Amino acid sequence: MASLQPVRGTHDLLFEDMRRHHAVIERAKGIAGLYGFEEVITPIFEFTEVFTRTIGETSDIVSKEMYAFERSGDQLCLRPEGTAGVCRAFVSNGLQQQVPFKAFYAGPMFRYERPQKGRQRQFHQIGVELIGADTPKADVEVLVLASHILDALGLKGQVTLELNTLGDTASRAAYRDRLVEFLTPYRNDLSDDSKVRLDKNPLRILDSKDEGDRRLIAEAPKMEESLNAESRAFFETVQAGLTAHGISYVVNPKLVRGLDYYCHTAFEFVTTALGAQGTVLAGGRYDGLIEAMGGPSTPGVGWAGGIERLALLLADVPGKARPIAVIPMGDAAEGEADAITGRLRRAGYAVDLAYSGNMKKRMKRANTVNARVAVILGEDELKQGAAAVRDLDSGEQVLVPLAALETDLARFR
Ligand code: ATP
Ligand code: MG
Repeated sequence: MASLQPVRGTHDLLFEDMRRHHAVIERAKGIAGLYGFEEVITPIFEFTEVFTRTIGETSDIVSKEMYAFERSGDQLCLRPEGTAGVCRAFVSNGLQQQVPFKAFYAGPMFRYERPQKGRQRQFHQIGVELIGADTPKADVEVLVLASHILDALGLKGQVTLELNTLGDTASRAAYRDRLVEFLTPYRNDLSDDSKVRLDKNPLRILDSKDEGDRRLIAEAPKMEESLNAESRAFFETVQAGLTAHGISYVVNPKLVRGLDYYCHTAFEFVTTALGAQGTVLAGGRYDGLIEAMGGPSTPGVGWAGGIERLALLLADVPGKARPIAVIPMGDAAEGEADAITGRLRRAGYAVDLAYSGNMKKRMKRANTVNARVAVILGEDELKQGAAAVRDLDSGEQVLVPLAALETDLARFR
């Protein structure tokens, strides 16, 4: 075993990290519920085909980032993203008659990429999928939901919504031809990756991070000029919907998304607060996906957000509950302390009871665990059937009958 370290690119989630992580999921899930999205969990591994057919052989994810393995002759892989699995589940469970299907999910994803800040090999996403609605109103609904969630996480004013359209199949094909025509004379100036993309997936060149590629792209024809009337109207309706909801955005014509099945709306919520890995949430419309995996032609739109990135930006980190410290003085009080601790925990209070130690040591421990209040069981108090309840913030102390402890302690909730 390699020195008891976690595998490169993976992390343990402990304590505050876990509280942040959980806060992102719970708030997102709660708000998604207001929009009619219900939680689903799909398996962490699927047949590799579920992803190769939908994400595309030429995408970075399929060509170099998959954790794939064989078991009993089945080709399987750890899921690199959530959409394909949810769409597979939609088909497997015969839900075609129950559209629109609205799913929320949260869970781990796996991609073999170079680990750096905000980029892991196991990371986690929240996401929604709205399947079976081809209207731009569906695009607006998932965008408004995303914006609502980001506001609730405290990111209002810290993220920019970048929006683009890829048009329908015809517009996209027309644009692809124009782009290839423009770039072909410059083939030798393109980066090695983009030379391959020019033959296999030219739209992805727009997404290139290479400086030389970017200079060329700046001069390239824009998608907008290739849009047919339907695609143009679709995009205008989405923009009008966002404006009606008071959501601001910028159109970014270079936003194409890495995945092959997207059409029409593509979007990213981006921040400058995280350095290079600034995209916190991204998504779009994927009308060709379910058909590509062998299901009935069904439109869909959705997004996924990176929980680690959102957790780093979270404005109000939930604190750990401040416990009640139960402090017996002397052996005679130990039994009573156990009984009271049990009673209070069953009444819903967080209680800390040290296993041993004198009064001084236990008070010190109460301080270490950031206790809000101490219930002190001294000989004199117990004789009166009472305990001393000390507010550890103000130092104020009162005598409370043992039978009234549950009610009295409610003032510290
Ligand atoms: P990038 O361009 O950063 O590689 P992507 O296009 O691969 O992003 P998506 O597949 O759209 O990302 O995933 C949606 C979100 O999931 C991203 O915006 C990001 O917040 C998060 N994410 C993606 N890959 C990782 C990773 N390796 N580690 C942490 N978060 C990630
Ligand atoms: Mg990526």
